[in-house]
Amino acid sequence: MNAGMITTAYIIASVLFILSLGGLSHQEKARRGNVYGMAGMAIAILATLAAAGVTNYVTIIAAMVVGGGIGAVLAKRVQMTQMPELVAMLHSFVGMAAVLVGYANYLDPTHTYDSHAAKVIHLVEIYLGVLIGAVTFTGSVVAFGKLRGIIMSKPLTLPGRHLFNLGLGVASIVLGYYFVGAADIASGWAPLAIMTVIAFIFGVHMVMAIGGADMPVVVSMLNSYSGWAAAATGFMLGNDLLIVTGALVGSSGAILSYIMCRAMNRKFLAVIAGGFGGGGGKGGAAAVGEQGEVVATNADETAELLRDAKEVVIVPGYGMAVAQAQYPINEMTQKLRAAGVRVRFAIHPVAGRMPGHMNVLLAEAKVPYDIVMEMDEINEDFPHTDAVLVIGANDIVNPDAMENPDSPIAGMPVLEVWKARTVIVMKRSMATGYAGVENPLFFKENTRMLFGDAKASVEAILAGV
Ligand code: NDP
Repeated sequence: MNAGMITTAYIIASVLFILSLGGLSHQEKARRGNVYGMAGMAIAILATLAAAGVTNYVTIIAAMVVGGGIGAVLAKRVQMTQMPELVAMLHSFVGMAAVLVGYANYLDPTHTYDSHAAKVIHLVEIYLGVLIGAVTFTGSVVAFGKLRGIIMSKPLTLPGRHLFNLGLGVASIVLGYYFVGAADIASGWAPLAIMTVIAFIFGVHMVMAIGGADMPVVVSMLNSYSGWAAAATGFMLGNDLLIVTGALVGSSGAILSYIMCRAMNRKFLAVIAGGFGGGGGKGGAAAVGEQGEVVATNADETAELLRDAKEVVIVPGYGMAVAQAQYPINEMTQKLRAAGVRVRFAIHPVAGRMPGHMNVLLAEAKVPYDIVMEMDEINEDFPHTDAVLVIGANDIVNPDAMENPDSPIAGMPVLEVWKARTVIVMKRSMATGYAGVENPLFFKENTRMLFGDAKASVEAILAGV
C-alpha cells in the first residue's frame, strides 16, 4: 500500500472511532457504536500492517494470535461483575506498552535526526510517553487491586504526602532536563530509568491515596491517562492514527472524569490529591445498637406492597450485578406494568463499579430505555412514590451523604429514596457498601429490609406479584 492509501485508511478509521464514541453516548446506539469501533480498528490494523517498513509478519502474526487468543478467552470468561477490574487491567497494558515503546525507541541505534531541534522534540516525546505510561501502569494495577478487593479501599494518607508528590514531580522535571541534554544513550538512560521508577511510585501512591467512594473518578481518570499514553506512543512512532485515537480516548476519559466529579460533587484536583472517601464504617451489626432497630420484611409482604402501589421506583446497585438479578427484575417490571403500576428505574451515576454499569445490565435484560431515569430526572419524584425497591445498592442511597457533614461521602448527591412512602432494601446482610460507610437508611421508620440474595428475593416477589 502506498502512503496516500494508508493515510486514507487512517482517516476512515479515525472517522469510525469518532462515530463509535458518538454511538456509545446513548444506549440505543451503543451496539452500532461498537460495530463502528471494531470496523475502525480492523481497518487501522490492516493499514498499519501494509505500511512500508513493516516486514516481520511472522512475529507480528504470532503476537496477534497469542494476544488475541488470551483476549478472547478472557472476554468469554469474565463475569459482568469483573468488568471494571478487566478494564483497569487493560489500562495498565496500554501504560506498559507506552513505557516499552519509549525504551525501544530510545535505545534504537539506527535512529537518526535531521536537526538538533528534531532530536530534542523526539526525546521529549519519549520522556513524556514513558512518564505517562509508567504512572498509568502502576496506577491501573493498584486500581485493579482495589476493585478486586485485594487492596484496601481506605485511602492511604501518608504524613506529608503532598510534599512527597511535589518532590517526585520536581525530581522528574530535573531528570528530564538531564535526559534531553545527555550527549548519548550511555549518559541518557540513567535519568530515564530513575524517572521511570519515580513514575511507578507516583502511580502507586496516587491511587492508594484515593478512598473507595472516589474510585469512579480514578477509573475514568486512568482511562484518560491510557489515552494520553497511547497518543504519546503515536508521537514516538510517528503514527498519526495512534495520536488521533489516543487523543480521543484521553479527552473522552477526561470528560468522563469531569462528569463523575460533578456526580459526586467533588473537585477533580481534590480527588487526585487524595485522602477523601475513606471509610470509617466498621460494617454490619456492630452499629445496630447505635442507630436503632431494623425492620425486616419478606417476599410476600413486598409483593403485596407492589400490587397495591401506583408509583414504584427501582434503584439497582452493585449487588444487582453480583446476583445477576436483572432478568427477574425485568419480568417483575413487565408484570407490574401490565397490572397498571407505573414502574421506573433510578440510576445513580456511580452505581455499580464502572460508569454505565447498571444501564448495561438493564439493557442486557431488555428493560425499556424510556423507563430508565438518571438521578437528576427522578430525584424530585420520590416524595410522590409509593414504594422504592433498592436492589443491592448501598452508598448511592445513603442519607448521610446529605445529612452528616463528617461522613466520608458528605456532599455526594444520592438518590433520596427515604422520601418515598415505603423503601424496601434488598441485600444479604447489614454490611457496608464499597465506601465502607454505615447507612442510616436501613434504620429509618419507612424502611423494610428484605435480606437474602437479590436474585432469589426478586424471584420470590415475582411469584407473589
Ligand atoms: P455498594 O458497593 O455501595 O453496595 C452494594 C451492596 O450490594 C452491598 O452493600 C451488598 O450488601 C449488596 N450485595 C452484594 N451482593 C449482593 C447480592 N448477591 N444480593 C443482594 N445484595 C448484594 O454499591 P452501590 O452501587 O450502591 O454504590 C457504588 C459504590 O461503588 C460507590 O461507593 C461508588 O463510589 C463505588 N465505585 C463506583 C464505580 C463506578 O464507576 N460506578 C467504580 C468504583 C467504585 P450485602 O453484602 O449485605 O449483600
